[in-house]
Amino acid sequence: MTAERAINFNPGPAALPLPVLEQAREELLNFKGTGLSILETSHRSKAFESLMLETENLMKDLMGIPDGYRVLFLQGGASLQFAQVPMNFLPAGKTADYIVTGGFAEKACKDAMQVGRVHLAATTKDGGHRRIPRQEELRFSPSPAYVHITTNNTIVGTQWHYIPATPGCPLVADMSSDILSRPLDVAAFGLIYAGAQKNMGPSGVTAVIISEEMLARVPQGLPSMLRYDLQAKNNSLYNTPPTFGLYTINLVLKWMADQGGLIALEELNGRKAGRLYRVLDRYPDFYRGHAEEDSRSLMNITFRLPSEELEALFLAEAGKENMTGLKGHRSVGGIRASIYNAMPEEGCRALAAFMEGFYRKKG
Ligand SMILES: *Cc1c(COP(=O)(O)O)cnc(C)c1O
Repeated sequence: MTAERAINFNPGPAALPLPVLEQAREELLNFKGTGLSILETSHRSKAFESLMLETENLMKDLMGIPDGYRVLFLQGGASLQFAQVPMNFLPAGKTADYIVTGGFAEKACKDAMQVGRVHLAATTKDGGHRRIPRQEELRFSPSPAYVHITTNNTIVGTQWHYIPATPGCPLVADMSSDILSRPLDVAAFGLIYAGAQKNMGPSGVTAVIISEEMLARVPQGLPSMLRYDLQAKNNSLYNTPPTFGLYTINLVLKWMADQGGLIALEELNGRKAGRLYRVLDRYPDFYRGHAEEDSRSLMNITFRLPSEELEALFLAEAGKENMTGLKGHRSVGGIRASIYNAMPEEGCRALAAFMEGFYRKKG
């Protein structure tokens, strides 16, 4: 009846684990014996409140989030966090330091400039954002309110492989495209945010992991929906949340635990990316990787071919083999393979084999 499911390399909204989609379909008409679909269930019901609590705890267990942190599920995408972070934590008279490693980092920086004083601690824009700056290249302001980084640069395909030391201030990170892809020392961060639609579930939910220390610093005078402390106090149920998205995230987190958690997922993600980068390294004149080797992303693999005609042909031929979502972002061009947690290893094996074959025909 339905066509075969595609091998989905979309950057976001991205592939979801098949067992999650199947369970959502299974439970769609009757959520946990309530006689109602989750789509028709009150966010004030016992069933939904316990789902919220369970989801926060699943995040804490999977990521090893220490005591003294809350997990919030907010709205407005990662993009609203670009504004909400400075509105809460960049007071008048202080400076926030931004490290700009790609388009989303730049957007975050620009929004912060609408709110207060910003210092550019490093940017890789000149080289086309092909790499992550080294610690010794970071030039912080004397006493920043916080330092902001983007751990995985979805468009250009670079990723931080170390946690930068800050001059004694909180580190804030946009982890939209690599949250839950590898173990992480959450204690090194004051605030982490991530739009759900890359690695956690459908669009419409933004996860925020925030320390109690940061929560205590929220200033008076902000509108309710923009207050992290109010959202925390209300267990992210201050207003009506995207209930179906949260339900799906709950299923995705359980699926991640079933895969063996973040240690197992990191290993799998390394194998998946390795298959593709090995093809790039074998034919570097044909498959021209965008990222420098030590800054390569395990989530988004970006490369150009010798001509735009070949790139168009590559996409068309890959489409015939049931692979979709491979077109690069317009700012980089070429090809981007997004291979978040839910991309099975077979998908990367199929793409690597296709790339070998395409090189033999056209290289
Ligand atoms: C996708 C993405 C965003 C934007 O997310 P929205 O939820 O669409 O606002 C921000 N930052 C990064 C790193 C992303 O990958």
